Amino acid sequence: MRMSKLYMPTLRETPAEAEIPSHKLLLRAGMIRQLVSGVYSYLPLGYRVIRKIENIVREEMDNAGAQELLMSAIQPRELWEATGRWQDFGPEMFRLKDRHEREFCLGPTHEEYFTNIIKGEVKSYKQLPLNLYQIQTKYRDEKRPRFGLMRSREFIMKDAYSFDVDEENMRKSYDVMWKAYDKVFTRLKLKYKVVQGDSGTMGGSTSHEFMAMSEVGEGIVAYCQHCDYAATDEKAAVVYKVEDSQEELPIEKVYTPGVTTIEALEEFFQIKASNFAKSLVYSAGGKPVIAVIPGDRELNETKLCNHLGIAEHELEMADEGLIIDITGGNKGFTGPMNLKKEVKILIDSRITRMKNLVIGGNETDYHIKNVNYGRDFTGEVVEDLLLIREGDICPQCGEVLQMDSGIEVGNIFQLGTKYSESLNATFLDENGKERPFVMGCYGIGVSRSMMAVVEQYHDENGIIWPLVVAPYHVIITVVNAKNQEQLELGEKIYEELNSLGVEVLLDDRNERAGVKFNDRDLIGIPIRITVGKRASESIVEYSLRKDEDKKEINVDEIIPLIKEEFSKENIKL
Ligand code: ATP
Ligand code: MG
Repeated sequence: MRMSKLYMPTLRETPAEAEIPSHKLLLRAGMIRQLVSGVYSYLPLGYRVIRKIENIVREEMDNAGAQELLMSAIQPRELWEATGRWQDFGPEMFRLKDRHEREFCLGPTHEEYFTNIIKGEVKSYKQLPLNLYQIQTKYRDEKRPRFGLMRSREFIMKDAYSFDVDEENMRKSYDVMWKAYDKVFTRLKLKYKVVQGDSGTMGGSTSHEFMAMSEVGEGIVAYCQHCDYAATDEKAAVVYKVEDSQEELPIEKVYTPGVTTIEALEEFFQIKASNFAKSLVYSAGGKPVIAVIPGDRELNETKLCNHLGIAEHELEMADEGLIIDITGGNKGFTGPMNLKKEVKILIDSRITRMKNLVIGGNETDYHIKNVNYGRDFTGEVVEDLLLIREGDICPQCGEVLQMDSGIEVGNIFQLGTKYSESLNATFLDENGKERPFVMGCYGIGVSRSMMAVVEQYHDENGIIWPLVVAPYHVIITVVNAKNQEQLELGEKIYEELNSLGVEVLLDDRNERAGVKFNDRDLIGIPIRITVGKRASESIVEYSLRKDEDKKEINVDEIIPLIKEEFSKENIKL
């Protein structure tokens, strides 16, 4: 491609809406453009990267025995009603009506649809296992679309669905996908970790997330360096040591004017935060709930939702009005005793072993001292409602966990029969008995992966594409395009590389050399050839974007050097 013809609207200034490097660079490099919040276009260079990522995903899915198809993005409401997800998906679902007032959504995901498409068609165990996938545009009206392609409202996803005869075979399909994902993300050159994920309202209990490590990642992972434990913060089990048991003391009401925060309480009572029980009031699916946890910890809202069996969008912190209504006291004075109204109280199991706690008095400006579970209050005990934090220990081996942030680029789930049962999708087993398919589902964020690659591969001047996903492999910069000798030599190398199947950009623009060098850094083409003053001697400069070591070479050396780069990356020429 000649850059004099290329549609590559680069920007000198960083657009104000971009906060993270990958978003800034993809916009500046003229690879993507925002239409409205969370909705993007892929411009020619960016779309080449997308297609390369798609092809890597496609190759590995095909190698793993999955079959590609393409479903529509528009799905009727009835399909989603069958599984209850028309409601569960909540405001994240884009909904629309046709001219006959029939309701549809723009698919945020496709479990129902895939289950439906094999229903009645796959009739026998002999046709299983089956794994179908597509690479398609998904729609989610995200609460906070941000970071460009990272959390957008329209994005490209590869989604696959496996169908098996039983749990054991589903686990085999799951492992096959896990291995395929390892290959995909290794080929994409991403530094990533596989961690246990939360299955939330997806159904099933086992899931894993593939996290591309990055400080801008929205996902937090806790992992152990001494064993193989690794989980997202939503999932990670918290080990919380309760101090030795003391004798239960008589309760005491204490006047604590204006003392509402844990810090202020520590100061007032001269005791540690771990001696308080923190009571948090929520509205969960419209009903008030109080969660009681140790005062020095944060609540894990995902664990709370899972226990209650509600979707995250149904959980809200209670406003002051609701708090006063059910407790009788202002915010900051809530506790599990003497409530004004009958409310569900969920208690983190550790609270039941802690003695002589301080709790809110449910009366403004009062706390109660020496409160003990069982004697003074009760509720529904939940094993673990706590959010993992720095310094926590590994639930598997007891060593201190490490915490890091990452970008979730892929996700695999063991679904079981949630979808097949509710949609009545069955097959006949060996004994002629009707059984629901046992399913798995597997997603890869294609557009998000592009962003993750840029996050891991860039410097202050621009993107540093790994060769496998680079929009073009080589860029030939003709330093002075008005110089006939330079232009001719550039053209000659360009033709030759093109004929070999190398993807080449020829910078034949009438721009200053500085502009061309800056642009080539910005768009991050891996292999660079500079045709300049020594063109008449057939000498050019050769360098790589990743290390910038420059050397002068004879044009004859170009092809062997490029071949060497390709073979290092296992790319066939
Ligand atoms: P997240 O926790 O980040 O919201 P998710 O659990 O909702 O992700 P899945 O439903 O498992 O995501 O979707 C599969 C993959 O699609 C994710 O692993 C991610 O790579 C990608 N993805 C999900 N939501 C978005 C989005 N809003 N923008 C871009 N990619 C996304
Ligand atoms: Mg999501």
